[in-house]
Amino acid sequence: MLFKQETLTNVATEIMTSAGAPRENARIVAEHLVIANLKGHDSHGVGMVPNYVKAMLDGLMKPAQSAQLIKDSGAVLSYDGDTGFGRIVGMQAMEEGVIRAKKHGISCVALGNAHHLGRIGVYAEYCADQGLVSSHYVNVVGHHPMVIPFGGRDPRFVTNPFCCAVPRANGEHVVLDMATTTVAAGKVRVAYMKGVPVPPNSLVDKDGLETQDASVVFSKGGGGAMQPFGLHKGYGLMVICELLGGALGGNFSMQPGNPRKGATINNMLSILIDPSAVGNLQEFDEEVSAMIDYIYDSQPATGVEQVLIPGDPERSTVEQRSAEGIDIDDNSWEDIMKSARDAGLSQSDLDPLLS
Ligand code: NAD
Repeated sequence: MLFKQETLTNVATEIMTSAGAPRENARIVAEHLVIANLKGHDSHGVGMVPNYVKAMLDGLMKPAQSAQLIKDSGAVLSYDGDTGFGRIVGMQAMEEGVIRAKKHGISCVALGNAHHLGRIGVYAEYCADQGLVSSHYVNVVGHHPMVIPFGGRDPRFVTNPFCCAVPRANGEHVVLDMATTTVAAGKVRVAYMKGVPVPPNSLVDKDGLETQDASVVFSKGGGGAMQPFGLHKGYGLMVICELLGGALGGNFSMQPGNPRKGATINNMLSILIDPSAVGNLQEFDEEVSAMIDYIYDSQPATGVEQVLIPGDPERSTVEQRSAEGIDIDDNSWEDIMKSARDAGLSQSDLDPLLS
């Protein structure tokens, strides 16, 4: 079904408010999720509402929680997210990180124990809008591992996203924002909901054999697991995200001595750099633009329309979905409506928002 951005935002706000979130926080989180849909990342869009509602109702997420500063060394800050909404505590930590990077030329922000941060690009885009380069190492904990190590059979990780953004004066920032699995877990969930295969080299079944059937991960007793992207190299980056995001950023890695209560918890280590502290800002921007033009100028391979830079696909998807609407598959919508009922809303509460 096709929805307008505003409709989805209003519905998600209402559901999360009814589940116990302060309305203002619910609205910010709803906007964050719907922007992920607009950018083409349905895995991190309104389909996450049932997960957030369940975490609130199970007492595993604190929807009114703010980020708590636990250590301040000037250019280095450590926050405890205390299972607050990831988007709320994540942006609070990032806002202070930007102030410190502007003051010192560089800052490092550790954020531990946040509930799901969602699309990590939002934090990098915020830094880029302030003219800062940033990189973000994230691990995912709080439930059982779903991703095998390269060469292994037993899962040891979740999808550990990595993100890095380079600001541009024209606002068309370079934003590399990705899971370190071949596909993000949410995209496996979306494929399962739609009953379509995932791309090759994404999953293994219970016997460790390659499969494109998402049910091995998302159906009860499926027994399968996800694969890191890019053989040992993607796997290596996944390990680095676990150690920097998890062990350093949050003192909370996937090792089994740490709690697994069933909620999706993220830890993130972010490094923010002010390019003007490194060199000449205008020269940097010109060099970036010249390099990007040179990349664009590469002749496209057969079947490819245009060579792109990271961040381009999201820009064009926003344009398309803003005009055409956001398509939510029936199974995901049913799950969202069920979460609305779980949160205490009736159809007559929702109808005015949907008309
Ligand atoms: P993806 O594979 O769709 O895109 C990854 C990156 O590649 C993006 O930066 C995109 O701009 C770039 N890209 C795509 N096609 C390109 C092309 N043809 N040329 C150049 N660049 C191109 O992303 P993904 O791995 O599915 O991740 C989706 C989202 O999931 C991300 O926003 C990520 O932050 C989020 N995520 C969050 C968590 C969490 O726990 N919070 C975990 C995993 C993933």
